[in-house]
Amino acid sequence: MPARIVIIGAGLHGCSAALYLSSRGYQVTVIDKTYAGRHASGVNAGGVRRLGRHPAEIPLSMAAWERWQNMARLVGDDCGFRPVGQIKVAENDADLAVLAERERQMRALGYRHERLIGRDALRQALPALAQHCPGGLACDGDGYANPYRTVTAWRRQAERCGARFHEGLEVTSLTPGNGWEVVAGERRFTADILVNCAGAWAGKLCEWLGEPVPLRAEAPMLMITERIAPFLVPVVGATSRPLSFKQFENGTVLIGGGVRGSVESDRQVAETRLGGLAENADTAASLFPFIERARIVRTWAGVEAVMPDQIPVLGRSAIHGTVIHAFGFSAHGFQLGPITGEIATDLVMEREPTLPIEALSIERFTKQNPPLPHDSGTGFTHA
Ligand SMILES: Cc1cc2nc3c(=O)[nH]c(=O)nc-3n(C[C@H](O)[C@H](O)[C@H](O)COP(=O)(O)OP(=O)(O)OC[C@H]3O[C@@H](n4cnc5c(N)ncnc54)[C@H](O)[C@@H]3O)c2cc1C
Repeated sequence: MPARIVIIGAGLHGCSAALYLSSRGYQVTVIDKTYAGRHASGVNAGGVRRLGRHPAEIPLSMAAWERWQNMARLVGDDCGFRPVGQIKVAENDADLAVLAERERQMRALGYRHERLIGRDALRQALPALAQHCPGGLACDGDGYANPYRTVTAWRRQAERCGARFHEGLEVTSLTPGNGWEVVAGERRFTADILVNCAGAWAGKLCEWLGEPVPLRAEAPMLMITERIAPFLVPVVGATSRPLSFKQFENGTVLIGGGVRGSVESDRQVAETRLGGLAENADTAASLFPFIERARIVRTWAGVEAVMPDQIPVLGRSAIHGTVIHAFGFSAHGFQLGPITGEIATDLVMEREPTLPIEALSIERFTKQNPPLPHDSGTGFTHA
């Protein structure tokens, strides 16, 4: 009989694990206390970004990027992926020096996907940008996609491969024995292998499993404008302040990128904070002055799992050989979604993962190792 796998959490990472594992013939059950895409995976900014990644994530991000190119073939929908490019803009010479150093570091590691551009090239790519910006760091082929549509496409494809989804059922206990007994609502499931994709609530599962992690639930905020005549193609970030700025094909402009609202993860509520939204709007307007006149039509926040070193936990449990963790994507996990399932499948099949995940092991917390630096040391913020 094929192994029975229970995946806890139907965000993009849970759906990715469900798709790859069910397509290998495993009996896959996905349980979500709300519904697929209700949390971070369905409400995020849709940024598909290799630009500015922590070095430990780059190989995964590169592999995920290739899957994004073939999204329609993988899940029957291109998920709204538009490879319009992403640019980190320097607002002054100090920013430009940070970006130049980042490009140098990437070259030293053998990567060439991030490219320093000067004032003229920047102006050509972003004609509406304020005049004071001296350059930027560009990543061609990055872009954005539609988050909820992406989760739905992955979920549907997983279902076509045989995965079964149970929504509105909260997992409340995990008991080892002959495999695992999983209690969710009034239901009981048995599993040979558990996959923890519980997002901002994954820490609770880790506690039950005896390997607590310093996961923090945060609430990244977003706001969207009314439709505006097209003025922007690439996704734009700032270098020394939080900003993610993009215009969709329908003309609306999404502004976000790092400023946090408040979160009550037990009640599953993320709330926006007006001061933070104003700060974000100010940054956007200082780079694209005419946006000051645009009307904001909606604001929201989502609950996201953030690790102290800003990189996820992806790999086998340090204690239980039959538990796999995939959580803590720290506000930039959407882009990585397509490769989580491949890694989970390697681990279930007890194969050496084809992508390097040692730096993402849960043992970096459970063995009391000092956490990795907050980021790659180049002053980047996450878009
Ligand atoms: C506002 C915002 C903007 C973002 N922008 C970007 C971006 O532009 N680019 C990018 O790459 N990333 C971005 N991110 C980050 C990205 O969305 C997340 O890293 C990613 O979606 C995390 O996916 P997940 O599957 O781990 O978690 P989630 O999508 O949160 O899914 C976890 C699921 O687990 C379920 N669950 C939890 N506990 C239980 C339980 N006990 N029983 C049953 N079910 C349970 C929850 O209901 C939830 O559906 C953003 C995040 C936010 C919030």
